[in-house]
Amino acid sequence: MYSVSWKHLKNHEQQTTSWDHPKMTQLFQSMADLSHVCFSAYRTAMKSRRLQKALCLDLLELSIAQSVFDQHKLTHNGQLLEIPGIINCLCTVYRELQQVHPDLVNVPLCVDLCLNWLLKVYDSDRSGKVQVLSMKIGLFSLSKGPLKDKYKYLFAQVADAAGVCNQRRLALLLHNSIQIPHQLGEAAAFGGSNMEPSVRSCFQYVGRDDVIEVQQFVDWMHLEPQSMVWLPVLHRVTAAETAKHQAKCNICKECPMVGFRYRSLKHFNYNVCQTCFFSGRISKDYHLSYPMVEYCTPTTSGEDVRDFTKVLKNKFRSKKYFTKHPRLGYLPVQTILEEEHSET
Ligand SMILES: [Zn+2]
Repeated sequence: MYSVSWKHLKNHEQQTTSWDHPKMTQLFQSMADLSHVCFSAYRTAMKSRRLQKALCLDLLELSIAQSVFDQHKLTHNGQLLEIPGIINCLCTVYRELQQVHPDLVNVPLCVDLCLNWLLKVYDSDRSGKVQVLSMKIGLFSLSKGPLKDKYKYLFAQVADAAGVCNQRRLALLLHNSIQIPHQLGEAAAFGGSNMEPSVRSCFQYVGRDDVIEVQQFVDWMHLEPQSMVWLPVLHRVTAAETAKHQAKCNICKECPMVGFRYRSLKHFNYNVCQTCFFSGRISKDYHLSYPMVEYCTPTTSGEDVRDFTKVLKNKFRSKKYFTKHPRLGYLPVQTILEEEHSET
């Protein structure tokens, strides 16, 4: 059963170059078609979503992951796990998943792919070892479950015995988390590998310089800080996958629109579908600074009324007004949009 996984060990010892699992290589190559997505947070989230599905981590509940870590007594986060230890833990994870989803989970394949991924992300110098903390953050980040719960689980991994987290601990969490987009070739847009500005941002937001509590961390994450924005976007990408909106795209005329829907808060009845929005296909007369709101699920009547009121307010405001007030708290897309346009 473990023959494939064993190959990693053998390859590692022999220092051969065939470290990559062919299925992983295939997966990463297949992501090339996402290069048309011109917003890095969305591109990264869509890549992460494919990865998450390939590893079947989209089936893994946060609480199940936690119970497996407990079962394997992985309490010392600084501990380095060698490959057999990682395999042991992953076997338990995927056996649990297979019991619930026998048709979706192939245990040896999943263990092998996930091991391969963990090593790629957290063992860049190929020592054959991964820190317990890294494995936990990696698996929790791609698990399923409500976003708020995910933030709490992530925080708990770095919190001290009193349940709080100093700057160094927060930096550790952010550093381990950003390795995921980093491995997907997407770190630059999230502030590179320097975690200091993010840590500062969090402590400044909270107004303390010693420690933060879990709820303060959740509140800060709710603002979608640049270094972590791919994670909430991953959750929205997931929610949008099955969303169908009874509206027509003003660019390509698709109706109903599937995926994300972007609705103008400047013009009545102006909608853009996910494909057009992601590829930057907005019509010439539609200024990029005009506010848009993103929906990953069909709108409720309450949202329709709210947006209608906003359009009424915005209708006679000038282009200059929106350029001057770019952050009206509509959605993070706008800040990403601006950054990317200034990049190129
Ligand atoms: Zn369209």
